[in-house]
Amino acid sequence: MLDDVSRRARLALDPVGIDRVDVDEALLLGEPAGLEVRVLEGAVDLADLGAGRAEDLRDRLAAETRIGALDVALVVTLLAYAIVSGLPLGDTLPFALVLLVASVPAALPATFTLAQALGAQEPAHRGVLVTRLSAIEEAAAMDVLEIRQIPVLQDNYVYLIREPRQGAVAVVDPSVAPPVAAMLRELGWTLTHILNTHHHWDHTGGNFALKAATGCVVVGPRADAERIPGLDIEVGEGDFLPFGETQAQVFDVPGHTRGHIAYWFADAHALFCGDTLFSLGCGRLFEGTPRQMWESLSKLRRLPDETRIYCGHEYTQANARFALTVEADNARLVARSAEIDRLRAAGKRTVPSTMGEERATNPFLRADQPSVARAVGLPPSDPVAVFAAVRARKDKF
Ligand SMILES: [Zn+2]
Repeated sequence: MLDDVSRRARLALDPVGIDRVDVDEALLLGEPAGLEVRVLEGAVDLADLGAGRAEDLRDRLAAETRIGALDVALVVTLLAYAIVSGLPLGDTLPFALVLLVASVPAALPATFTLAQALGAQEPAHRGVLVTRLSAIEEAAAMDVLEIRQIPVLQDNYVYLIREPRQGAVAVVDPSVAPPVAAMLRELGWTLTHILNTHHHWDHTGGNFALKAATGCVVVGPRADAERIPGLDIEVGEGDFLPFGETQAQVFDVPGHTRGHIAYWFADAHALFCGDTLFSLGCGRLFEGTPRQMWESLSKLRRLPDETRIYCGHEYTQANARFALTVEADNARLVARSAEIDRLRAAGKRTVPSTMGEERATNPFLRADQPSVARAVGLPPSDPVAVFAAVRARKDKF
């Protein structure tokens, strides 16, 4: 895990892309900002380049890089952040020193605050700083909760999560047991919890087998207790589920099913929302009304921008095609859709996205926007009706 954190921090601190990273794009695109440093000019993605070409590019860009005082501010902020967050200083310090040396002979101001550093620089530099700091925060979040994604069945995602200090391990919505058991063995993790978001078989099908094999406890919605196989702990709106040294806040989010819940790990910036909110979509209304679903989504929409959305299915590309029929003029949606096509063509996952991205591009979170109301020919004053119309249109899409 520490290797993972330091690798991410190292990637974030690599001086590639400086002067080329646009702040909005960096925050918008793909993985939470900073995990991949993207060189937007020519749409080059370093993660996709072979090692040789990446090295060339790195050298070329590094030669053009001059940030100076900003790096001093970054180093100070970074070290302070690392100390406060308990990140391994042994990994952080060498890169901080490299940055420091690279910033000579820039003038060294007496003091810097984060706000000054973020506020005073020109946009491109600010983007780099934000990107780097996001990566450090991301590494800190992964320090709170390690997350592994297991694709199963046709398009389901099962998640394994581990709180590293006490070793609590949960599987979220295990549709099937064997791939989960195999991944647990591979990681050397011992399952302590099953977290179910709702009763559908493709989210609970592995409950009995995993519980029998490990003796873990099953956590699920109080409102649907009788339909969750092997349920031990019932939770609902406002509950906090302790998980090692962290905890999950539970939200009731009915609509897809009447008892659907979501788990929000605030410290880890992670939301497990099953089939309520998808990347660029939302679940079908099998047991709920449009008003219930709109209220559920509105609840989730209030979570911070950096919240990563770990949803139950890889539906993003089809969702993007539909979303474009609603908001063809939404520039962020158009850009995101192109990025999704690129990722899928390369066989990559599009989940998790972030709440910031979803709020800006997911039509089902935007039923109170005039552009979305216009698309379905309704006044913007009634978001429930707009949401219902968009959902109905998607059902036939
Ligand atoms: Zn479902």
